[in-house]
Amino acid sequence: MEAVKFHVRKNDLVVVMAGKEKGKSGKILKVLPKKKRVIVEKVNFVKRHSRPTGRMRQGGIIQKEAPIHISNVLILCPKCNQGVRTGKRALEDGQKSLVCKKCGELIERK
Ligand SMILES: [Zn+2]
Repeated sequence: MEAVKFHVRKNDLVVVMAGKEKGKSGKILKVLPKKKRVIVEKVNFVKRHSRPTGRMRQGGIIQKEAPIHISNVLILCPKCNQGVRTGKRALEDGQKSLVCKKCGELIERK
C-alpha cells in the first residue's frame, strides 16, 4: 500500500495560512494521514489539565500542540520568506527535489 502523499511531511518548515494561528511558522513534528492533520512545533498550543499520575505527581496544566488541518499549512520558502505553493523537480542524480513555485528556489528537506 502506498502512503498517502501530502504537500508537506515531517520536519518540513511550514507557515499556517488560515485559522487563529495564521502567520505562525514551525516545524512539522507529526503528520496524521488519516485525519489529514499535522502537528506543528509551537503552533496551536492548547492547555490541558492533567491529573496527577504515578510518574507526574504534580498534575496541573500542561501545554501541548494540537493538530491543525494539513490544508492550512504551506511550505515556508526561505527566499520568499512566506508560505508558498511548491512543485517537484527531478535533479540530475534522479532525486526529486521540492521547488518554490514562486521564485523557483530549491527547498531543502531534512
Ligand atoms: Zn520562493
